Amino acid sequence: MTENINASIGTKAVWAGEKEVLVHGATQVPVVVSVAYNYDDMDEWYDVAIGKKQGHIYGRNTNPTVQAFEDKVKILEGAEAATSFSTGMAAISNTLYTFLRPGDRIVSIKDTYGGTNKIFTEFLPNMNVEVALCSTGDHDAIEAEVAKGCKILYLETPTNPTVKITDIKRMAKAGKDVGAIVVVDNTFATPINQNPLELGVDLVLHSATKFLGGHADALGGVVCGPKDLIHQIYHYREINGATLDPWAAYLLLRGMKTLKLRVNQQTKNAQAIAEFLQKQELVDQVFYPGLATHVHHNIAKEQMKGFGGMLSFSLKGGMEAVKVLLPNLQYANRAANLGAVETTYGPARTTSHVECTAEERKAMGIPDGLVRISAGIEDIEDLLADLANAFAILKEIQATPSL
Ligand SMILES: *Cc1c(COP(=O)(O)O)cnc(C)c1O
Repeated sequence: MTENINASIGTKAVWAGEKEVLVHGATQVPVVVSVAYNYDDMDEWYDVAIGKKQGHIYGRNTNPTVQAFEDKVKILEGAEAATSFSTGMAAISNTLYTFLRPGDRIVSIKDTYGGTNKIFTEFLPNMNVEVALCSTGDHDAIEAEVAKGCKILYLETPTNPTVKITDIKRMAKAGKDVGAIVVVDNTFATPINQNPLELGVDLVLHSATKFLGGHADALGGVVCGPKDLIHQIYHYREINGATLDPWAAYLLLRGMKTLKLRVNQQTKNAQAIAEFLQKQELVDQVFYPGLATHVHHNIAKEQMKGFGGMLSFSLKGGMEAVKVLLPNLQYANRAANLGAVETTYGPARTTSHVECTAEERKAMGIPDGLVRISAGIEDIEDLLADLANAFAILKEIQATPSL
């Protein structure tokens, strides 16, 4: 029952990947804390060690709880295999370092997650890897760079924090034409709203810390794809050591049971908040792919099942106005996180792009007063009333001449 591939995604989120580790009739996955595994039969130990037989040897390599987490994500993404990491950044860096060698070339976009962008601008050039970063959403420019040849085409869609969209199917084809490995960071969309593997990419990865876990209480990362590629990434990770902890794996696994319920509610709330913000006179711009005004609304509609729980906006008064608005919200964490059940607000300069200078953010098209919102699962009337109240306070303060 657990791996029934005909089940819908919400059912898979609840059941998939768990059966093998349930013991003594337990209905819930155990947290296996053992670092090493005991073998009375020396030949069996050897067979497991060389991968001839299924089993576990040592916690840095594999662990039953961690494996259940990997299996669940793998099934939700419709992948052949998956391997996990201690954080989302470990998933990204280990995937890149597995395949890139000095002299290689990688093509990506300017708007990737701040940490990913640092790998492109700092660490890969140190390794003598050539990095070509294109304007996000400029499909012709990406195709032109890819056509020059590259080992990896790395994409993230929607992006953090201005929720720009890249046409996955079109880019996957461009990558395939030059034999590149096409990678998509699917953290924002989740497998509920977007399935990059179905659209032709090779590898899909997540910061599981965000929507997959959903409760902001565990760090983790995961990458899914064909067995041969995943095995190479697994080998890099088992030796370099960014292994997911079994306690974190358990929390992520438990969070994932409600993935569909949460993401559907977050998607609805994000749409309502975006439409509300659009009507506010103090708001300058609203970025959400579910708005008809979004530049790539039609691409998003084509490749996404829902537009997701992430949006951002800028205020006419810039950062000074943000400093008034955010502290006056009641149902809000003001924190460097996203994807949690609580609605979370954060300026880009202290969250996704804290690693970047103001000039670098400006070059990426991120206004200094940009605020990212990760919609939570609260009842929407409370979130909108909360925002309306904070905007009323902001308006009043702006109308009062300063002493
Ligand atoms: C948070 C995030 C990451 C990094 O994940 P960590 O778990 O914090 O290491 C990567 N990509 C995106 C889109 C993210 O939001």
